[in-house]
Amino acid sequence: MDTTMLAARRDRALGAGAPLFYDRPIHIVRGEGTYLFDAEGRRYVDMYNNVPCVGHANPHVVEAMARQQATLNVHSRYLHEGIVALAERLAALHGPAIESVVFSCSGTEANEVALRIARGATGRQGIVCTNATYHGNSEAVGKMTRIGEAPGSGHNSQGDVRAIPFPETLRPLVPGASEAELAEAYLERLRGVIRGFEEDGTGFAGLIVCSIFANEGLPDVPAGFMARAAEMVRAAGGLVIADEVQAGYARTGRWWGYEGAGFTPDIVVTGKPMGNGLPLAATAASKALVDGFRARTRYFNTFASSPLQAAVGMAVLDVIERDGLLDNVARVGAALKAALAERKPRCAAIGDVRGHGLFIGVEMVKGGDALDPDPEQAIAVVNRLKDRGFLTSNAGAFRNVVKIRPPLVFARHDADAFLEAFDATIAEIDG
Ligand code: PMP
Repeated sequence: MDTTMLAARRDRALGAGAPLFYDRPIHIVRGEGTYLFDAEGRRYVDMYNNVPCVGHANPHVVEAMARQQATLNVHSRYLHEGIVALAERLAALHGPAIESVVFSCSGTEANEVALRIARGATGRQGIVCTNATYHGNSEAVGKMTRIGEAPGSGHNSQGDVRAIPFPETLRPLVPGASEAELAEAYLERLRGVIRGFEEDGTGFAGLIVCSIFANEGLPDVPAGFMARAAEMVRAAGGLVIADEVQAGYARTGRWWGYEGAGFTPDIVVTGKPMGNGLPLAATAASKALVDGFRARTRYFNTFASSPLQAAVGMAVLDVIERDGLLDNVARVGAALKAALAERKPRCAAIGDVRGHGLFIGVEMVKGGDALDPDPEQAIAVVNRLKDRGFLTSNAGAFRNVVKIRPPLVFARHDADAFLEAFDATIAEIDG
């Protein structure tokens, strides 16, 4: 079907305004590994999707899913070995403080569980997040969504969720400050919000961050900030929640984003890549925290903790380990980031290249001034890359970051082909 007609039907059927990528949207009908194919048979290199982490239509995962669905799939109020084994395996991927798991079906739900664990355990309500973050779309979790709010403006003093400016060195809170002074300035904002919660009787329950500040645009963070923030949170009796929905599952070349960020969480939230497309998410913490949550809430989630989630979740972990994907991400990601960084001095429109593993951001800025974001340019780059067969998107606090986040199986030869397309695109927009 013609894409224009399908888009019109979509507007009627789903309501106009349901988000759609690209000036001229693409009609995808099939995926395989790192590649997506449109209705005309055109191949695109997927450099956006982190959910199909072990590749689109991964045969091992498809086989596990089909076999389990043909054997048994049922809700979680029966004994089943599979889900116990998945929880044990997941907990073992963290340090000893993480022992037990609550499964759910989306990052939003898993973050909601994390908030309830933190609030229930501390008996206090106040949650601190960062000012340009995204943690999910429910009413409670959506309170933490401040995408679009300018960095530096997040210190607020009302409600049970309050934001601090996300830490970054590119557009620092205190211009001209040393990295140590800058870390201290961001910590001072955290200290101020915690104090505000204590003084007005809300009480402080915890801090939630994406360990690599993905939706904020993957900023380089002043050294030591996260370790000291975690210390400050615990000293105030709060819990540290690492949202690893984006940062986890080998994305950074390590299992968890918090390892690179240099802090240890009390609660870890995972989602997107866990089921390679099957809805599967988890909130993991100490047994004491999870026991307390279970006792207070009798939490039940119809589709979660199922034999199907277990089989698929296991298959995804099998492939990550069997195929050495941590190593692939570290190697291919480092090479791609270095190659993109090399291009920065040659192109005034590139303000910064940064990222971790196979999650790289290229900041587009207006002629020469690294601090003047250019979202239109980022959108132009994304659309032109799409026309050349490479799927990316734009993101970040100013939406001016070209976001590169392919499946973990993304190979070096795909990176080389992408760099050619990127060079041709930059040559066009640079005139
Ligand atoms: N946390 C982060 C860091 C996210 O980026 C997202 C989704 N983009 C979520 C949570 C919410 O996950 P979901 O869409 O599965 O509810």
